[in-house]
Amino acid sequence: MPHILETSVNFLKGVGEQKAEYLNKELGIYTFKDLLEHYPFRYVDKTKFYKVAEVNDASKSFLLKGKIKNLQTIGYGAKARLSAIFYDETGAIELLWFKGLRWLKQFLKSNEVYTLYGKPKYFKGAYSFAHPELEVYENKSKGSQLALEPVYNTTEKLKAKYLDSRGLRNLCRQLLLKVEGHIDEVFSDELLKLAKLPGRQEAFKSIHFPQTHNDYLKARQRLVFEEFFFFSLKMQLTKSYRDNQVKGVVFESVGEYLNNFYEKKLPFELTGAQKKVIKEMRRDMASGRQMNRLLQGDVGSGKTLVALMLMLIAIDNNYQSCLMAPTEILAQQHYNSFLKFTEGLGLKVALLTGSTKSKERKAIHKDLQEGSINILIGTHALIEDSVAFQNLGFVVIDEQHRFGVAQRAKLWKKNTTPPHVLVMTATPIPRTLAMTVYGDLDVSVIDELPPGRKTIKTYHAYESSRLRIFRFMRNTIENGHQVYVVYPLIEESEKLDLNFLMDGYESIVREFPLPQYAVSIVHGKMKPADKDFEMQRFAKGQTNILVATTVIEVGVDVPNATLMVIENAERFGLAQLHQLRGRVGRGAHESFCILMTSDKLSEDSKKRIGAMTETNNGFRIAELDMALRGAGDLQGLKQSGLPDFKIGNIFKDEKILKAAKNAAAYVIKKDPFLKAPENEVMLHHLRKLSPGGGQWERIS
Ligand code: ADP
Ligand code: MG
Repeated sequence: MPHILETSVNFLKGVGEQKAEYLNKELGIYTFKDLLEHYPFRYVDKTKFYKVAEVNDASKSFLLKGKIKNLQTIGYGAKARLSAIFYDETGAIELLWFKGLRWLKQFLKSNEVYTLYGKPKYFKGAYSFAHPELEVYENKSKGSQLALEPVYNTTEKLKAKYLDSRGLRNLCRQLLLKVEGHIDEVFSDELLKLAKLPGRQEAFKSIHFPQTHNDYLKARQRLVFEEFFFFSLKMQLTKSYRDNQVKGVVFESVGEYLNNFYEKKLPFELTGAQKKVIKEMRRDMASGRQMNRLLQGDVGSGKTLVALMLMLIAIDNNYQSCLMAPTEILAQQHYNSFLKFTEGLGLKVALLTGSTKSKERKAIHKDLQEGSINILIGTHALIEDSVAFQNLGFVVIDEQHRFGVAQRAKLWKKNTTPPHVLVMTATPIPRTLAMTVYGDLDVSVIDELPPGRKTIKTYHAYESSRLRIFRFMRNTIENGHQVYVVYPLIEESEKLDLNFLMDGYESIVREFPLPQYAVSIVHGKMKPADKDFEMQRFAKGQTNILVATTVIEVGVDVPNATLMVIENAERFGLAQLHQLRGRVGRGAHESFCILMTSDKLSEDSKKRIGAMTETNNGFRIAELDMALRGAGDLQGLKQSGLPDFKIGNIFKDEKILKAAKNAAAYVIKKDPFLKAPENEVMLHHLRKLSPGGGQWERIS
């Protein structure tokens, strides 16, 4: 019998087929468990109401109680907005809405008492609220109401189905009664005792309906720890199986290929950091165990070159290698530079991507199996089952975050003894954090750039200096160089952003008209083929300016591009700004990055922009980034490719993350394969969290 938590939400009272479907579609909630894990994002302290007359600060949020009058629609069509007056005995304040007008007009009644929560805006001498959270006031004297009331994320569509925050709250209340007594503990007794955390049942109850602030804190701590713990446990169990049970191919010696390359082809001295990581990896590769390593290093720090040298060692030991890149254009670039570096060494390097013609593809398949191709470079096309090697010994994956663990595993299977795996990333996260979130990999770091690299001069400019920026762009182009102009494109405001981008593109085309100038545009909504075509035009120097969203973030190499203008720079995360900036300064020419922002900046944005203008060091920036990140900055998190957690925040909850990692290490150390009876409960839970069986089980 399925567990009660697997029950579909339409078994809750008041949730019919239709509401269930909306919950699925809008919030991804299918089962009791999903709803249970739809945690409140905030709590309203119902004991502290402000008066309307006390609203006097646009930087903080207020909870008010009052009534609504003068509800009216202003303007037409897309410009239509809804206005109302919210008042209590001390004063009145305007409310404004730009979306969801129809539902609001139904919902808002002049005789009801509402609670209002929101941050006011100050405009022309008066405060107002745009899209405040409004709820019908529930009279506390009725008894059971809590001091801390949970507030849930919901959507306009759900609100129209009466599943606003209050609706969801009622569902959660019902749910908690239903599952009472059925929420099993998932920690072993020992761990529960050691970690000094509340039980699972209690934690779920208190996260939704805390009696006190302290209850909430403890419940959250338990759930965050649990989430991090199982994440870490899975990583470490995978690693444990691999280290103990998987044999690796052995690269015994260095031979002719590497030596020839080193003596005849390498045009510069390796940096100390490059030497260090090569040594680390050579040791892995000779150990008889399979290497699984993450190589972190700033853009341009020479990771790819390191990968190439290790491939030569593989070839010296009669093994083939492959390199997988996240996009076609990157694969092409790697291919070109590998051809150049290996010219005259008597090696065969091939390129396989989605657009390789079928005749050529067949030839490549054949040569791979016969072993005449030494190095294969490509995209996802590499993991297809039809691609078989004679003896694949070494796999390199460029830019970790675009590939998942499952894809890595697929590459492994291309040899009877799994090949060594090197994952390269330029995402500059601090080493300790990297070791936790990539816990199944060993970590190497290149923390030094090749000598003579010019720093990219970075400036902050306000919208008001637009004309000067255009002039700067024109000068750059007149000097024979190229320019990137980058716009944010954030999922939540995709449409708006796309409009921005198109507006920007048009104004740039007006400013830089044909036939004197040529401008390319690239964004994520374009077909891949069109995108590649436009990128290629820019890469070949056929266009002067590339207007783009962050799709250019990953590794495009156009050494002739020396200026990057980042629009709305305040909307990017620090790590991302740094990644973007790495697209310039790739040639011998002095390069510039201009961060354009609106005139009004929050303190945090000022600090971020300031950090960018002060330093070019990715790890320094990563540290600052961590220090600055608040709870709300999940967007930047997703963009940097780090795992998504439901309740934990790897920055804010760094301490819990460490504790959870240590706890997992403690468990695995005592019981490397979770075979002990007292750990059964945790293994069981882990399996449930990894549908289809965990990777560790597939390896063993
Ligand atoms: P990454 O992969 O880390 O972005 P690459 O390996 O592509 O960096 O190196 C960036 C550029 O620097 C390439 O043109 C490469 O040939 C060059 N390079 C790599 N290592 C060195 C070095 N030790 N000294 C000088 N140039 C180097
Ligand atoms: Mg690179």
